[in-house]
Amino acid sequence: MPRSLFRSGVLVRVGHTLLTWVTTLVLFLHDTDLRKNEERGDLLLPLLFFLLVVLSVLLYFTVSLMDPGFIQTDVMKTLLRHFQVDEESNEELESMIPQSSTPQLRRCGYCFLQQPMRAKHCQTCNHCVRRFDHHCPWIENCVGERNHRWFIVYLLVQLLTLLWALHFALSGISPSNSWESWFRVNIFLLATLVLVGVFSVVTAVLLCSHLYLASINCTTWEFMSSHRISYLKNYGDEENPFDQGVLCNLWDFFCVCRTVAWEHIYRQKQDH
Ligand SMILES: [Zn+2]
Ligand SMILES: [Zn+2]
Repeated sequence: MPRSLFRSGVLVRVGHTLLTWVTTLVLFLHDTDLRKNEERGDLLLPLLFFLLVVLSVLLYFTVSLMDPGFIQTDVMKTLLRHFQVDEESNEELESMIPQSSTPQLRRCGYCFLQQPMRAKHCQTCNHCVRRFDHHCPWIENCVGERNHRWFIVYLLVQLLTLLWALHFALSGISPSNSWESWFRVNIFLLATLVLVGVFSVVTAVLLCSHLYLASINCTTWEFMSSHRISYLKNYGDEENPFDQGVLCNLWDFFCVCRTVAWEHIYRQKQDH
């Protein structure tokens, strides 16, 4: 039972939610700027902070529960079925099937589905994922084609929340006559400071690295394992066949919500 709870991600999600609200409660119960504003009747600041925390939790659940781009049907089977109807469309079919200059579509060794280019099987989720980035244990979900942009938005909101919480925790630390009593009086705020500080650093590093990867149209998996990926083996460390310039990459990443046929972009790049 505990194993299935871990696998379904319930524990990690409950843990995240609890941690978020316990630290928020600590900030509201101590003599922080939040509390001082609240006592003065100035509710704007506490309300804004509360809404930011709610937004971060909502975004957390969005990226955690949404389909990251699981492949449910065989791409090739669907393609062949579609083109069987019209025999004169052979030329069109050929143009959609990668030719010898492009690495052939791989069949997944776990779920036996034909993988589109940039897809990878996640053994934790037991699914192939389009434009696979990585499996994130904190959201207990894959980050892929459909939720990658939301993952970055979540990281941004989470970082803002953490930095603001860090400021409020610091504002609540009260002086004392001795180290011992100072430690005793501020123990919960100090624990919150350490926790929020560590999470702030991790979130900032993740946010910067994912923004960088989005700007060059590369995934964490491709960045870490380019030497093992068939379609990247022939490219040097500095070359990326999917890179279309920083602005175009960022626009496509954040603003275009559709399934991209990376095989065509790859072939176009090769033809050039
Ligand atoms: Zn698979
Ligand atoms: Zn996964």
